[in-house]
Amino acid sequence: MISEEKLQKYQDWIFQISAYQMALALISIDKMTVAPPAGGPYRDARTAWLSGEKFSLETDPEMFRLLQEMKDDPDLDGDTRRAAYLYWRKASHTICIPKEEFVSSEELTNQAYDAWYRAKMADDYSLFRPYLEKIIENKKKFYGYRGSSASIYDQMLDDNEPGMNEAKYDAFFADVKGRLIPLLRKVCAAAPIDTSFLHRNYPAAQQKKFTEEHLLPYLNYDPSWGYQNETEHPFTYWTCENDCRTTTKYLPDNVTAAIFSTVHEVGHATFEHDIDPKYDGMILSEGVSAAMHESQSRLCENYLGRTHAFWEANFPALQAEFPDQLGGIPLDDFVRASNAAIPGLLRLEADELTYPLHIVIRYEIEKDLFDGRIGTEDLEKVWNEKYREYLGVEVPNSRDGILQDVHWCEGSFGYFPTYALGSAYAAQIVHKMREDIDVDEALRSGHYERCMNWLKENVHRYGCRYDAPEIIRRATGEEFSWNYYLDDLERKYTELYHL
Ligand code: ZN
Repeated sequence: MISEEKLQKYQDWIFQISAYQMALALISIDKMTVAPPAGGPYRDARTAWLSGEKFSLETDPEMFRLLQEMKDDPDLDGDTRRAAYLYWRKASHTICIPKEEFVSSEELTNQAYDAWYRAKMADDYSLFRPYLEKIIENKKKFYGYRGSSASIYDQMLDDNEPGMNEAKYDAFFADVKGRLIPLLRKVCAAAPIDTSFLHRNYPAAQQKKFTEEHLLPYLNYDPSWGYQNETEHPFTYWTCENDCRTTTKYLPDNVTAAIFSTVHEVGHATFEHDIDPKYDGMILSEGVSAAMHESQSRLCENYLGRTHAFWEANFPALQAEFPDQLGGIPLDDFVRASNAAIPGLLRLEADELTYPLHIVIRYEIEKDLFDGRIGTEDLEKVWNEKYREYLGVEVPNSRDGILQDVHWCEGSFGYFPTYALGSAYAAQIVHKMREDIDVDEALRSGHYERCMNWLKENVHRYGCRYDAPEIIRRATGEEFSWNYYLDDLERKYTELYHL
């Protein structure tokens, strides 16, 4: 039996962690949106110190022992035991790292973000490479401290998506490659879909007006709990269910990029907002895993946002904003163009069919990087070769090649595969949603919230209460299978291109 005094201590500890977490999230949002770059070094040093304080709290040996006791205590309720287990698991991964090393690595990743940004603007990978080298060195050292018998990359995969490893992803990606590369070749050989009108001149200010006055209200992104900003690399952060921040990027030569990225990020924010408020401030109040989070954003982006029904409700307003560019374009042509598969350089702008191939490339590179088959000096060459082999495109520069993603400068490895896995979760979840409710009617008639309410009831509200496979089971009544995803893509693109 755990004493009241100890349980109170645990509650105080949770509150303190959530306070640091909130401060760090706000600082990070600020850094990636509006903070003047010259203040970077000053801010980064203090941000790293704050991270160190949070680290000390999270790895406090006395709390660690208490969490260990709590997670196995049958007298405690299921929510509390689950939360204690998750805090304990997190601490068990980091308690072995000396605090000074943790703090300096936090500072390094903050500096690396600025270096990545400079390198990207200068189109020069060599400016970023020394930072990447150090980040990888740190990662290897930190994972070494854990003393696990699993490979470093397996541990990274498991950290991002508990239960996953190289063997499981290898099987998934073998099917992705085996089924989608031949499909893409057929699509590329078929008569192309005209997408030229999506790339006329669409001034950012007007895109912003459409987004803020029409799209965000349609998505029920309520300013009382959500706020959208702009950034180089769109993301969503939150401090609690009632404070979610999304970002987007307006491209004047692409009218749908910011729209689909907004639908995507608002999908993440809605997930966080819909988690049962009784979990607020504790570890249960987070999406359960990276792939589950991504499943919700990609479900909104691809399985709702790219449908004909969605555009029946939204195209007239877009046309009204851009009468010269879109006035004469029939709705059917617009929807077809928005779904066209065209191999390109950028993951963030990729269509549904080529997207998982962008992920396969990153997965294979990370695997080779951490299993020691390649080094940072080979990355750009390997990257460009894989783009040629899988997507058939030549990479003309670093900016749109090896430097396009922010993840590695943040020390985030093993995360990319969750994007593809999340798409596969989404396919299975939406399949069940369509059995339960009339999704197209909801989208067509401006009742996007009916879809969100279904997700809230079946997925969102749980937060971290169950692990991802269990949530899939509860939501769909079945074990997870990626066949829904690959079947959907085959069906969709066979129809779209009359293959
Ligand atoms: Zn996302």
